[in-house]
Amino acid sequence: MSDCIFCKIVQGEIPCAKIYENDQVLAFDDIHPMAPVHVIIIPKKHISTLLDVSDADNEVIVDLVSAARKIAKIKGIAEKGFRTVINCNAEGGQVVFHLHMHVLGGRKLQDELG
Ligand code: AMP
Ligand code: ZN
Repeated sequence: MSDCIFCKIVQGEIPCAKIYENDQVLAFDDIHPMAPVHVIIIPKKHISTLLDVSDADNEVIVDLVSAARKIAKIKGIAEKGFRTVINCNAEGGQVVFHLHMHVLGGRKLQDELG
């Protein structure tokens, strides 16, 4: 997707503060962090939303969750706790239409999700 900012990060056209990478996913610090730790994990393949994950692509969700575990350990928030979030479409708060998982931690998160 030529006009997708997360695809541009994958291509190296936009810089990022990389935290973790493997063949399937890339993770980087959120540019506008909502918590002391706020990492975005994306599949390298462009998928617009959670609704666009095909049955053939379901493994991508496992890859995101697996990366979230690694990032929690890298960032030192695994034991205290953290939150993973995937926003989907407008009312879910999705702004960037390239599937991504937020990893939030480093402070006590509020009980409400929105
Ligand atoms: P969402 O609202 O779930 O679509 O979240 C998109 C997230 O991407 C927001 O938290 C933004 O701050 C973050 N973001 C947007 N552009 C960049 C960028 N160039 N580098 C890092 N994070 C970004
Ligand atoms: Zn994309």
